[in-house]
Amino acid sequence: MSDTIEKVKCLIIGSGPAGYTAAIYAARANMAPVLYQGTQPGGQLTTTNEVENFPGYPDGITGPAMMIELQKQAERFETDVRDGWITKVDFSEKPHKVWVNSTKEIHCDTVIISTGATAKYLGLESEQKYLKLGGGVSACAVCDGFFYRNHEVVIVGAGDSACEEAHYLSKLCKKVTMLVRKDEFRASKIMAQRVKNTENIEILFNTETEEVLGDGQVVTGVRVINNKTYEKTEIPVTGFFVAIGHKPNTDIFNGFLKLDETGYIINEPGTAKTNIEGVFVSGDAADHVYRQAVTAAGTGCMAALDAERWLAAQDSTFEVSTSNYN
Ligand code: NDP
Repeated sequence: MSDTIEKVKCLIIGSGPAGYTAAIYAARANMAPVLYQGTQPGGQLTTTNEVENFPGYPDGITGPAMMIELQKQAERFETDVRDGWITKVDFSEKPHKVWVNSTKEIHCDTVIISTGATAKYLGLESEQKYLKLGGGVSACAVCDGFFYRNHEVVIVGAGDSACEEAHYLSKLCKKVTMLVRKDEFRASKIMAQRVKNTENIEILFNTETEEVLGDGQVVTGVRVINNKTYEKTEIPVTGFFVAIGHKPNTDIFNGFLKLDETGYIINEPGTAKTNIEGVFVSGDAADHVYRQAVTAAGTGCMAALDAERWLAAQDSTFEVSTSNYN
């Protein structure tokens, strides 16, 4: 434990589009936000090659470049952006307490959680190699599907996400092959039926990925194995999509905040409020439905405005700013 305890008005945890947008709004509202970046500064977008669906970038922008721009914009209004990982919190009483790297203790008037979610991958070496190269592995069909127009792709998974994403890809791609490890879908009947009824989706049940194949730069195919017959097949594709679920990065809040069965933070509908006063949530940590940079940014704005109003209600010397409403 540190000797000196720092006090902050607004602590933001996470450095994706939600966290930086919350920071821009909080800084412009004189809340002097301190933002901790976490272990993956820039968040999930730093693993995305090209972002073409964020408004305001008509020519597209790479994920890492966009995150640098967002950080600069937050810093322009004097957000204190710091390296560091929040390892523990205590929201049982005011002030809310957080610990950075298990040592530094901070007491916060408000906390905005923007810790995001992490897409699950199979963990194959070849999958990770092409993911890092930006060479054809993706966990987001809505983000990356467009780059595979008229190509053939595979998608792994059998839940609602996999079905929804397979259907989305089928409208762009020549052919989508779904790799389902069991002999049945986990998805709801209606979603499963939709993919079954789509002409250019082929479903391979009892099929697992052995290796993502490539030329050292980009994906050229996938080798799969039927787990009943052990027959191996190579499927030539340029895109390897993984839709086997996400894990929200919310473990440290368990016990304080209301979480759903998967671990997503439950917010008060239509707001960024959690069940704890003064603690707000934005982005994918509370969103298993949309999971887009632009929706994360939107909820980051909501979280900062909710925090600002909450502070003003607690502290008569703190006034709601006008700058965010211009
Ligand atoms: P789920 O956890 O529901 O499904 C994950 C799927 O991935 C399962 O079919 C699972 O297979 C498969 N899987 C997991 N690990 C592997 C692996 N190593 N190899 C191959 N396959 C694997 O996640 P979703 O993201 O699909 O959905 C999360 C939640 O969001 C659900 O509650 C879902 O209903 C909801 N959702 C709702 C939507 C809607 O209503 N429009 C859209 C998207 C999601 P197995 O079945 O064999 O375990």
